[in-house]
Parts: sequence; C-alpha cells; structure tokens
Amino acid sequence: MSINSVQRPCPICKNKVSKALPLYSFEKWNVVQCTKCSMVYLQNTATYIDLEIDYSWDKTYFKEANLREKKRGILKRIAKAVRIINYRLKQSDHDRYLKILGPGKILDIGCGDVVRWKSPFIPFGIEISKNLSKYSCKKKE
Ligand SMILES: [Zn+2]
Repeated sequence: MSINSVQRPCPICKNKVSKALPLYSFEKWNVVQCTKCSMVYLQNTATYIDLEIDYSWDKTYFKEANLREKKRGILKRIAKAVRIINYRLKQSDHDRYLKILGPGKILDIGCGDVVRWKSPFIPFGIEISKNLSKYSCKKKE
C-alpha cells in the first residue's frame, strides 16, 4: 500500500503553489487549497492499482465503520437503528426501482460482490475492488 509522494499541481489551473488545510487532511492524505484559483483538492493520491486492491471497500469498510461507531454517542446509535428498521419495513429497492424505471438495463456502480438485480432488470456492475468483482463474476455464473 502506497500513496504517490509526488505533490500534484492544482487539477484546474495547474498551479504548483498550495496552502495546506490540516483541518481537512486525514492521516497521510493531504488536502490543500490552490493559492491561485482556491480549488480544494487531495494533493497526494493513491495509485489506481492501490485503489483496486488495498483501498477497496471490502478492505477498508469495517475498519472505518468501527472507528465511526466508537465516536458516535448513544443517541446517534439509536437513530441509526431506527433508520435501519424503517428501511427494512419499506418495499425493496428492486420493487421501488421497477416502479420508477420500468424493466430494462440497470447499472450498479460499486456493486460489491453481489448481483442484486434480477429479472426484468438486465444488470451491469462496476466494482473497483478486484477481490469483490471476482466474487461477483463467480456468483453470476
Ligand atoms: Zn488552481
């Protein structure tokens, strides 16, 4: 797992001078503001291969979810539980989208390792995690 140590210029105006924003930066990720056009951007990025493997959802989700859960107070945890119950009482995504969109092709961006759309939808999925997309392809077969 690595991040580019190259400090990239502003993606809008290509200015190489920026002001650090430590309040918005996290761990090794540097958020900066361009001194010329005020664009706020991530100065150091991960390589595409690292995004596919090391920073993929299946590797980072549970770590992040645990960190967030520890920071939450009891009221926020109760509110989350109520939202989950409310969501489960409503009709499924499949039926809701069928009413809105009608049958046909559907694109699931960040589909993870599941194929959740069944007939009359014709599902297509995009998943950056190589691990999850591999499982999704096996399940589809
Ligand atoms: Zn700029």
